[in-house]
Amino acid sequence: MKTETCKLLIIGAGPGGYVCGIRAGQLGIDTIVVEAEKPGGTCLNVGCIPSKALIHAADEFATLRSFAGENPLGISASTPKIDLAKTVAWKEDIVKRLTGGVANLLKKAKTRYVTGQARIIDGKTVEVSTSEGPSRISCENMVIATGSKPLELPALPFSGKVISSTEALDLQEVPNRLAIVGGGYIGLEIGTAMAKLGAKVTVVEFAGRVLPQYDAELTKPVTARLNELGVTLHLSTRANWLSEDGSALLAEGPDGAVEIPSDKVLVTVGRAPVTQGFGLTDLGLTMNGPFVAIDDYCATSMRGVYAIGDVTGDPMLAHRAMAQGVIVAEHIAGLPSIWDKRAVPAVCFTDPEIVTVGALPNEIEGSKTTVFPFAANGRSMTMERSDGFVRIVFDPENELVLGLHAVGSGVSEISGEFALALEMGATLTDIADTIHAHPTLTETVQESAQKALGRALHI
Ligand code: FAD
Repeated sequence: MKTETCKLLIIGAGPGGYVCGIRAGQLGIDTIVVEAEKPGGTCLNVGCIPSKALIHAADEFATLRSFAGENPLGISASTPKIDLAKTVAWKEDIVKRLTGGVANLLKKAKTRYVTGQARIIDGKTVEVSTSEGPSRISCENMVIATGSKPLELPALPFSGKVISSTEALDLQEVPNRLAIVGGGYIGLEIGTAMAKLGAKVTVVEFAGRVLPQYDAELTKPVTARLNELGVTLHLSTRANWLSEDGSALLAEGPDGAVEIPSDKVLVTVGRAPVTQGFGLTDLGLTMNGPFVAIDDYCATSMRGVYAIGDVTGDPMLAHRAMAQGVIVAEHIAGLPSIWDKRAVPAVCFTDPEIVTVGALPNEIEGSKTTVFPFAANGRSMTMERSDGFVRIVFDPENELVLGLHAVGSGVSEISGEFALALEMGATLTDIADTIHAHPTLTETVQESAQKALGRALHI
């Protein structure tokens, strides 16, 4: 059997694993990354990037459709058509370019890349089944970056018309009727795009509102827009199984049984960490529920074994996995890196988008909240979308900013300013006195800080 040795072995080349591999290579650590599928993991192949490509195409299509009728902009266009197979091929091309880029970046960092399924033998040894047969890799340090996979409902297993987000992002035709089980961010991002592409979308959500993990004020404009797009919401409703002939999703709501005729049923009820079937459980690591427990260096309970990304729990986000990957590489290189982040921004690419960073209103005792609406922002008006607002949670004693949130069209691009404000320990005056370019959406951040200080100008 072929054998190799290295100082650092990373299992999984998602955003956690590949970033760890690049940073380790930059720091001169002899590193091998093992990946069973393609570089880039869930994020590049079947997650963040493909979903945002689909959302972009759907937005373009919806805009064109709006120009086919009466519109205040004076633009007229003929009725557009969508060839989803072509859209998906375009998306695949982006994925290919990005995953190819990851492979090149690892190479440039002199990190070795092995394609194959890794099986952990012990904390220092892994066996990999490659296309050329099994090989063995011994290491001084190991990083578990095996990510997560879609959660399956026992009564609605993935097969045939019951699909996960992975298949939904690869559909060759827009389904006429799409039922979505789970109104979290993944279901709503894909559902909104499909509704814009012409599908009749129905969402079944167990909680009393969509996006239950976000606070109610932030989700109201999203619910309003879903209604506008003709998406049917069955809230406080439990999806059960398919009808006997498979033509409908059967559910149970507050008013009794619900039958939802559907061509596809997309199940997006969460994601489960990948911890089984590759020897990880035999290591007997301390777990945190279904996730691998880690400390502030991303170290597990076994010396020399680290874990990063979705396998370590919430928030399951690509940028958190990447930040953890950097910390582990730098820690192994002897640098003073530690998880001391003040906040992990979370963005929901629904319509409108939602951004949350840091504390929510009332989460910290004595905190106060200031809100500024996009309706009073000139740039929003020129973009024809002025629903939503920016909100700052702050400590009234010392003006310290504790949390920043927004719901509105295009607010994902403000998330960097939000995260920076928290990391830098910004006060309301810091934000209020920073010149924000006009006309931009970011002026609402400045204005909401000014409002809290009693000196808002445009409201
Ligand atoms: P993953 O990306 O899951 O990568 C793990 C890798 O490990 C996989 O490639 C897998 O093949 C490999 N692997 C597993 N076991 C083995 C083994 N035994 N041997 C070898 N290789 C193995 N996050 C955001 O931040 N923003 C978004 O907009 C966003 N949108 C999303 C949209 C969708 C539809 C989905 C599904 C997810 C989205 N996410 C988003 C979440 C994001 O994709 C994950 O948080 C991120 O990919 C986690 O990175 P990771 O490195 O922990 O794991």
